[in-house]
Amino acid sequence: MKADLHVHTYYSSCSKAKINDILKSAQRKGMDVIAITDHNTIRGALEAKRVNPYTDLRIIIGVEKKCEYGELLIYNVKKEIVSKKFADILKDAKKQNCFVFIAHPFDFFRFTTKWSNFEENVLGSVDGIEVFNGRNAFNYKSKSLYEKSGLKGVAGSDSHFPEEIGNAYVEYKNDLWNEILSRKAEFRIKNMFINKIKYLLKSFFNKWFLRKKL
Ligand SMILES: [Zn+2]
Ligand SMILES: [Zn+2]
Repeated sequence: MKADLHVHTYYSSCSKAKINDILKSAQRKGMDVIAITDHNTIRGALEAKRVNPYTDLRIIIGVEKKCEYGELLIYNVKKEIVSKKFADILKDAKKQNCFVFIAHPFDFFRFTTKWSNFEENVLGSVDGIEVFNGRNAFNYKSKSLYEKSGLKGVAGSDSHFPEEIGNAYVEYKNDLWNEILSRKAEFRIKNMFINKIKYLLKSFFNKWFLRKKL
């Protein structure tokens, strides 16, 4: 079974993806689970869960939270996490029984959201790292950290356009979180370099040309 654990909707300022198009694309690509992880809000995830017409597609309520070191992917969020500092976000997430993963570690092309601190206390206090990110050119480094450490891993497309869904995903047999937490899940990725360039150009075009016309 397949789970894309990093999906953005139009609730993220960098995406215009409509919820219905996301659900349709996830269904078409054969995903069994998607986690909606908008920047700093769970509103998109809640809406997706509410309107999802597909009984064989499960929605995980997630968020991508920025902190002083980079970004965190947080899953099974029940209430908006408003804290901005790593330690406070973590405290809040633990209170809600969420799973916390470091998003796209080692992505040196993300100037504002790259991880700058991999000290023991940071790695030791999260559940794991995003091993494959559909837009990260440094997945090989995350993979090697995953293999060397006892950390758990997730994978996701980081899609900002519905057609990107499924470009990276977790493959599991029947219990997603059980298999992730026991390091039995596997990670898949497709055409990373092409996707990275293609979607960065597309985002840039949308931002500077299409938005100005509206
Ligand atoms: Zn990110
Ligand atoms: Zn993202």
